[in-house]
Amino acid sequence: MADILVFGAHPDDAEFGMGASMVKFARSGASIAVCVLTRGEAGTFGTAEQREAEMRAAAEKLGGELEILSYRDCQIFDTYEARIRLAEVVRKFRPRIIFAPYHTNHSYHKDGAAHPDHAATGTIVRSAARYARFSGLKDAAGEPWNAEHILYYMVPRTRKPTLLNDVTPFMGEWESIARCHTSQMSLRDGKVLEGLRRFREAYGNLLGVGYAEGFIVEEPLVFDLSLFMSSSSQPGGVAHRPAGTA
Ligand SMILES: [Zn+2]
Repeated sequence: MADILVFGAHPDDAEFGMGASMVKFARSGASIAVCVLTRGEAGTFGTAEQREAEMRAAAEKLGGELEILSYRDCQIFDTYEARIRLAEVVRKFRPRIIFAPYHTNHSYHKDGAAHPDHAATGTIVRSAARYARFSGLKDAAGEPWNAEHILYYMVPRTRKPTLLNDVTPFMGEWESIARCHTSQMSLRDGKVLEGLRRFREAYGNLLGVGYAEGFIVEEPLVFDLSLFMSSSSQPGGVAHRPAGTA
């Protein structure tokens, strides 16, 4: 069981894509499971064995559960079998919230988030979350489970996030967890973390905070006044004007 289930195609996707949010959720008491579909053996750096050890180290630092599936890197496709397999993972962890890489990215080639495995994983998760609900779907092991929300991370460069998470106080811990993926630190001429930090800084600018992580939610959210009245949305933390002031 986990409150939050994060799917990633490759060993570093969850930590690089939304790791500071995972730290924030975990430190607020939520239980987190990460499900990684491949061992990233097609990547430029690192073997399957190295990368498996790295994701285990990252999960341990976070304090989350880790489920590693045996798909081949670059061979993730939206099939019935894949939907069933991921539905089984949903049924196993029974999360309230599911996170997946965003399912559509038109800027293949230059956008670092645009690996075809990422979009495929998002597409499969979208169907798997629904399959997990169907009690008549006996191909999927486990008891039916209806997750409340699916949120997408790895927002394409061409899309605006619809949800931003202020992660400023968690950036130090995020970096130490991201660094568990030692084999990947040579990416982008050794500046992979710098690039990821810049991304968070740009999203932070949209909120007027230091760093934020971006997400896309596609389903309408239930209106909750407290979301719009929280003190954190006010500079200086002033929640409400005292009665009688202008
Ligand atoms: Zn990836």
